[in-house]
Amino acid sequence: MDFAFSPPPQAFVPVANDRPFPVRRIYCVGRNYAAHAREMGHDPDREPPFFFMKPADALTEDGSTLPYPPATAELHHEVELVVALAKGGTNIPERKTLECIFGYTVGLDMTRRDLQGEAKKKGRPWDTGKGFDHSAPIGALRVASSIGHPVNARISLSVNGVNRQDGNINQMIWNVPETISYLSGLFELQPGDLIFTGTPDGVDAVGPGDALECAIEGIATLNITYEI
Ligand code: MN
Repeated sequence: MDFAFSPPPQAFVPVANDRPFPVRRIYCVGRNYAAHAREMGHDPDREPPFFFMKPADALTEDGSTLPYPPATAELHHEVELVVALAKGGTNIPERKTLECIFGYTVGLDMTRRDLQGEAKKKGRPWDTGKGFDHSAPIGALRVASSIGHPVNARISLSVNGVNRQDGNINQMIWNVPETISYLSGLFELQPGDLIFTGTPDGVDAVGPGDALECAIEGIATLNITYEI
């Protein structure tokens, strides 16, 4: 196609030992960890999951040094398990969700908490708090065919070497199959979609010069630094 100008570059995530994963959309799950690990089975008190999105060009590679974002005095880290889809669909039953998964990695749902808080108060959209430039740092993907489908793994984040978040992905209120199944009832999922699955407790502010180190044990690591 002869466009008016060069189209923007395709967003992608590097894949360990394989070709890069091209990204279509980034879905994020809100509030998906309870203070205590829930038992397997149903929790009658849990609310349905809710979702927001980030633009695909908010992705930022492992090892980046990032500009501190504008218009915030409260930039929060949220370390999350990220699921990448190789297959999509609508109304996908839970038992069919695992075959849609390309792989997994660790990501950061960076949040301008002050802007998000103001939006919540006024009943406005979260985009300025959640979908800003460089708001989605992400590690290299590991393919499910090599690591399987993790359900029990430590997820942690430290800032300048001091631990801030430390949980386990088994504490998710809505697990990965439930999340994919539910989300596919709201949107037609497609290959190239990423899902940030929510963060354990311990979210807090970072400032210029801070170094963030994230890990999901046995899956991936992610390191970023903010410019002074
Ligand atoms: Mn989050």
